Amino acid sequence: MLHNRTYYDSARICKNGHLINQHIQLHPETNPDFCNECGQPTFTICLHCKNPIQGCRHTERERVTSFNQLTNEARKRTDLFCQQEFYKIPSYCNQCGQPFPWIEARLKAAKLLIEEDEQLDIAEKETLILNLPDIIVETPNTQLAVSRFKKITSKALTVTGEGLKNILIEICSEAIKTILWPNP
Ligand SMILES: [Zn+2]
Ligand SMILES: [Zn+2]
Ligand SMILES: [Zn+2]
Repeated sequence: MLHNRTYYDSARICKNGHLINQHIQLHPETNPDFCNECGQPTFTICLHCKNPIQGCRHTERERVTSFNQLTNEARKRTDLFCQQEFYKIPSYCNQCGQPFPWIEARLKAAKLLIEEDEQLDIAEKETLILNLPDIIVETPNTQLAVSRFKKITSKALTVTGEGLKNILIEICSEAIKTILWPNP
């Protein structure tokens, strides 16, 4: 019998969302406590549920390299297929659904910025804040969230609109990015 196995390594990511190591098990030697890009602490687990942050997807495939006709024994080896080029830093923990620190910090910063805006009324501010999670990741509500975001930010101060762009552009999906900010 030949076996195939798919599993995920775990990842180390800094508080600001820089990828430090997507192979904690395969490459435990690359494990700094602080990010060399921004100096922030790095994490390997979700701070809410303590489960590991999902890393690179691996498939192991066993294959027969030779066959001994006398003993009927197969020699096998296992090949590892690493899909590191497809790795995307997760926004939310897949074990408890809470946002990771790099998302939480941006949501908080965006919220503070919106609350400071004098041109928006309380209802507009609330709507904008409630729609932020659907701007960050694609959900069934994204289209609605994007149109509300556009409408409300067009009334807001320029500094709010620009600030929100800076905070969100790095973490939202390509599709959302092209709709909201077509000319970067
Ligand atoms: Zn960093
Ligand atoms: Zn890998
Ligand atoms: Zn979690």
